[in-house]
Amino acid sequence: MKKIHDVIIIGGGQSGLAVAYYLRRKGIDYLILDAEEGPGGSWRHYWESLRLFSPAQWSSLPGKLMQGGISHYPSKNDVINYLETYERHYKINIERPVLVEKVYYENKVYRIVTNKGEFRSWSIVSATGTFRNAEIFPEVEHQDIFEGEVLHSSSYVEPTPFIGKRVAIIGEGNSGAQILAELSQHSDTFWITKDEPDYLPDHVDGKYLFDAASQLYEAKRKGKSFIPPSLGHIVMVPSVKDARARGVLKHLPAMKGFTKTGIKLIDGSEYDVDIVIFCTGFSASIDYLKELPLAFRHHKVDTRGTKSRELPGLWMVGYGSWTGFASATLIGVGRSAKATSNEIAEFLS
Ligand code: FAD
Repeated sequence: MKKIHDVIIIGGGQSGLAVAYYLRRKGIDYLILDAEEGPGGSWRHYWESLRLFSPAQWSSLPGKLMQGGISHYPSKNDVINYLETYERHYKINIERPVLVEKVYYENKVYRIVTNKGEFRSWSIVSATGTFRNAEIFPEVEHQDIFEGEVLHSSSYVEPTPFIGKRVAIIGEGNSGAQILAELSQHSDTFWITKDEPDYLPDHVDGKYLFDAASQLYEAKRKGKSFIPPSLGHIVMVPSVKDARARGVLKHLPAMKGFTKTGIKLIDGSEYDVDIVIFCTGFSASIDYLKELPLAFRHHKVDTRGTKSRELPGLWMVGYGSWTGFASATLIGVGRSAKATSNEIAEFLS
């Protein structure tokens, strides 16, 4: 029978590593189980041209600064390399590829069933991100009749397969704007948005957003009210600024459904397209927790900070604002990870 670990962290992306960093500092026994073939979490799967919203200086996990300073906006490969170095530097205890399939809570011990056998622990940290749970199809009609190709932004890698094609890009978030910016140089693009795209001012980057989130966090902690600066959604990274200069940041009304040869919009207009890319977001990849006595609501469970309100010894890290301000960012997850490690230390003692 394998030993019972103090903590098993499920997921070895930036969130799992940040928690491991603090547990290691406290001398707590932990093991990360990660489904990827190598380091980097979901950064391994993003499109090739992706650049971070914040400079390297403001894109670091606790303890080790990412190289590049305040003027370098890292690429996805910079992040993967950084996370690989981070793992090596702190000798992070990680096993991969190990896919966790189910988790049970029996006699105060977690039993973790994976494709590589079973593991056991007194507590678990769920840090599995959102990438594996792409929100592919909003409610649209007649998808079965469309003769073209349909994909989610999570499958988009680079523009070559789209050259000369007519492509509909659905969604007014950052993924939609950035994929539009890239594809509009190679394809006929149609940008379909449910709402008016909301652009942030040009000077606003991830650092600025993090500062606003931090001010909100501090104000709430002190019971004060704070209205963050009026921020929209789309960060004006260089590729999106370039698209604006080329006049291609034009959007059409929401999609109603498919036709045989394309898409139909809510205003009744129709467009023939070869490919439809849904940039419609993600939700927490936590289906493997479904055997636990937790109430799931829209791919979330009930937490106070990162700690489950329903089950002792369970923490959820890195999923976005419901698990801590800015916790889905490199710079922001450190704060959640530190608080989590303090709570785990108390729990284990
Ligand atoms: P992930 O990176 O998704 O890691 C989760 C890990 O868990 C993965 O390795 C996965 O394989 C593993 N896993 C999942 N399920 C299982 C399972 N059942 N068993 C075992 N392992 C499992 N953030 C920034 O800070 N700055 C940015 O500029 C920025 N830009 C972004 C741009 C785009 C287009 C997108 C989509 C995201 C961006 N982000 C940015 C957000 C950031 O990439 C993610 O929030 C971050 O990767 C989340 O880290 P994580 O460790 O929580 O999850």
